[in-house]
Amino acid sequence: MYTAPNKMMDSSKSNDSTNSGIRDSNSTTNDEDKDELCPGFKNADAFVKYGLGAVLSATKASAGLPQAGDEYDFYRSFPGFQEFCESQGDKLLHCMSQIMQHHGCRSHLRDRDKLTGLEESFDQVVDSNDVILERVGILLDEADGVNRTQQPVMPAGFQPPKIVVSSWNRMGPGSGSRSETFRLLHAKNVVRPQLKFKEKVDNSNTPFIPKIFIKPNATKPLPSYFTNKQIRKERPEDLDVPAALADFIHQQRTQEHVEDMFAHPYQYELDHFTIPEGLLSKPEAQMFKPMAETKCYFIDALEDLVALNEKLCKLSEFAVDLEHHSYRSFLGLTCLMQISTREEDFIIDTIELRSELYILNEAFTDPAIVKVFHGSDSDIEWLQRDLGLYVVNIFDTHQASRALNLARHSLDHLLKHFCSVESDKRYQLADWRIRPLPEEMLQYARTDTHYLPYIYDCMRARLLDVNHGQPGLLQSVWNKSKDISLRKYIKPIFTEESYLELQRKQKRSFNTQQLTAFRLLFAWRDKLARQEDESTGFTLPTHMMSKISEELPREPQGIIACCNPVPPLVRQHVNELHLLVQQARDMPLLKAEIVVQKTKGLTPIRKPEVTMFGPHDTSKVSESDLHHCSPYEMPVKQGMLFSEDEDKMDVGVQNTSGLVAKAKITQFEELETQNDQESLPVAQMKARRIVESFENPFRMYLPSGDVHISKNAKFDPSSKIFEISKRWKLQSIEQQQKELEAKREAKKKAKEAAQEHTKKVREERKEAKQSYQESLQNVATVRQQAAESAEGGGKKRERVVSEIGESTPKPSKKLMKSAAKTEEKEPPPQDSFQPFDYSQSDLKVFAGTKPKDNPQFDPNRQAHGFKKKKTPKGQKSSFAAGNRSMSYLAGRSAGGFRQNWPKR
Ligand code: AMP
Ligand code: MN
Ligand code: ZN
Repeated sequence: MYTAPNKMMDSSKSNDSTNSGIRDSNSTTNDEDKDELCPGFKNADAFVKYGLGAVLSATKASAGLPQAGDEYDFYRSFPGFQEFCESQGDKLLHCMSQIMQHHGCRSHLRDRDKLTGLEESFDQVVDSNDVILERVGILLDEADGVNRTQQPVMPAGFQPPKIVVSSWNRMGPGSGSRSETFRLLHAKNVVRPQLKFKEKVDNSNTPFIPKIFIKPNATKPLPSYFTNKQIRKERPEDLDVPAALADFIHQQRTQEHVEDMFAHPYQYELDHFTIPEGLLSKPEAQMFKPMAETKCYFIDALEDLVALNEKLCKLSEFAVDLEHHSYRSFLGLTCLMQISTREEDFIIDTIELRSELYILNEAFTDPAIVKVFHGSDSDIEWLQRDLGLYVVNIFDTHQASRALNLARHSLDHLLKHFCSVESDKRYQLADWRIRPLPEEMLQYARTDTHYLPYIYDCMRARLLDVNHGQPGLLQSVWNKSKDISLRKYIKPIFTEESYLELQRKQKRSFNTQQLTAFRLLFAWRDKLARQEDESTGFTLPTHMMSKISEELPREPQGIIACCNPVPPLVRQHVNELHLLVQQARDMPLLKAEIVVQKTKGLTPIRKPEVTMFGPHDTSKVSESDLHHCSPYEMPVKQGMLFSEDEDKMDVGVQNTSGLVAKAKITQFEELETQNDQESLPVAQMKARRIVESFENPFRMYLPSGDVHISKNAKFDPSSKIFEISKRWKLQSIEQQQKELEAKREAKKKAKEAAQEHTKKVREERKEAKQSYQESLQNVATVRQQAAESAEGGGKKRERVVSEIGESTPKPSKKLMKSAAKTEEKEPPPQDSFQPFDYSQSDLKVFAGTKPKDNPQFDPNRQAHGFKKKKTPKGQKSSFAAGNRSMSYLAGRSAGGFRQNWPKR
């Protein structure tokens, strides 16, 4: 059982509020610190170290117990042993119950009914762990002074975030002595990496559509949906046709592509993949180079990535791993990619190079190159989701470990077993968004791939040996690995029933009102999390959602009181939440439910019990002690932690009815259409009405006019990526020319009607496309190029670049970055903060909040593959097994830890 170190200290002191030796930080803001923080320990670090040591030795000891099945049964025949087991078992259960009680969880572990109780007890422990870990996460966030409203935009008057001083992060006498692990696990004020993304994250409640637009190593060409930008992203609004017609054309264009849109782009290649003969014979294991003697490159520039790709394309195998972050993002973020060859290690900044990493598809999908992963299930999905990368020919050492029936299948174990290397997975859950990446984390990340090529050798040899030289077992590992690489990323989709599955897991029976509250809160949380690009666990942890639903507080303060600590977004939106709870309370109860309530003697609102005591729980401290106030009194004041502007918050305090300020920064704002509607000419108004009445069943599957592909990468012919891209252009040039011709015609027409400034922009765009098309004439296949470049490949590429350079401005990295801008029709915003202009996003596609907009949307279809036939409106299909939408709760979010992580 995981226990937060700071809370292990206290199970007995809940009614001791005077002086327990642990002082709540809120009571002091000065620095003198004479009282002991943790009795018997120098500082919190010492205590934490001690605690971790204790937990570790307990874990070790438990591993040493006789195994069930053989030894255990023997030992059990001795009464002494039996007695000892019982008493120790009771002691442990008591201990666990205490911890659970302390955290306000149900804890009837001891009243066990031996037959049926075990499973339930286990569930209780799992639930409690969820609760505790969620709290730990939120507390750490708060203690670190993470100031989320400040992060999305940093305008002129940017203030450094206020750091909350508490017992957690108070600077000790030697502040350098703080535990590295602790610091790294939760770095302060990580700037949201989403801000850097050239393409906005698509959190819309629509199925994921692959990002791929160029398909290296194709035997079956990429469907035109992906290569044809016209179909893919342009609703033909700029053609001189009414909007309704434009929509219709768009529908026609996309209809035939629906199947392509959701297929695995390399399905065909993977289905026809056969392992090269040579890989099925026994290899000579090539010893790894010691880490100290191996060069390690950190790659965050495009040139280096291109060079790496060239290097990888020449190899016969390399190892890959990813690091990921899920707490402060809705879908999760791939933060790092590690690649190890036999000679070198590479750490790639997948945040910085997010839009460019797809170029590695050239090596990743080359069937002649083995990509070694360990436990690649998630990696495969993250690669698709964030980077548009696919893998053909993968060898998963986790699958190999299973096939070999090794004692454990974690990477640690393989490292120990094959390389005699001790490793620890301490940083596995670190915040990988941190930049610059601390040295320790770099080293950790390296270790994840450095030894894999060697382990791959060893395991292949072993798989053959075990099977008497027959390749069957080895083959099966390759097949299992291939199955993983065939997986498709499935976005969590919100449906009207999503809440039910989660509610069922809560194991609380809810009456009509409570269930309604749960449903409404669930929908609110999902919508807001998508908008703000936060995990649902960060937005409103499930246990708090349950508690609010159960209590149905009459006042906003009651909602605050159900949350400890109060999630920043709950604080911001408490009035909205209050309305939802009220709405739920207005539901009529069933007769039986009313009886139940009466017999229980429940009044719907109770003063919530204080469920925990921690540095951020101010409920037990007298008001005068408070640095910030009790949640019951002045919730807003506490919210200053998350505010940029104290004055504004103070106004809120005076006016308790306006408890909450509106979110200051919303990443995705709905476009204001009200105004221009009024100023539209009658004809256009009509057209708009037609559009509104027009049901386009595909609209919700499409990105809302926003971009999936880095425009600059594709259309700036001077970019290096472009060189690689065009090598792989499989479409016939003729076809492209035709399309261009058609495009030109359309453009001409549109131009006449267009205003002066748009004309100009278009011209630029046309030029760019033209030169792009012209340059396609020079396309050679990559193999030809590779052959030609045998002795001056670099030169050849130089030449191409300079040819293009004649018609377009010389490339520079900055230019490339701003290339996307010039394509937009709007004048660039005054702000110098352009790449992150979230205000332009249109979230109307959020099916969850406006189901009427897309009545035919059936997300389950994604799991089953799409059929052109539509499900009738009313017919609600049951949950597909593959649909993770409701159980998907990222990272520390509720239930997140129940995810079946493969052993790594
Ligand atoms: P690894 O393959 O072990 O390097 O893990 C890759 C990423 O998966 C990490 O960066 C974490 O974000 C995530 N991860 C791994 N194990 C777990 C786990 N047990 N719980 C939650 N996240 C995990
Ligand atoms: Mn991994
Ligand atoms: Zn890793």
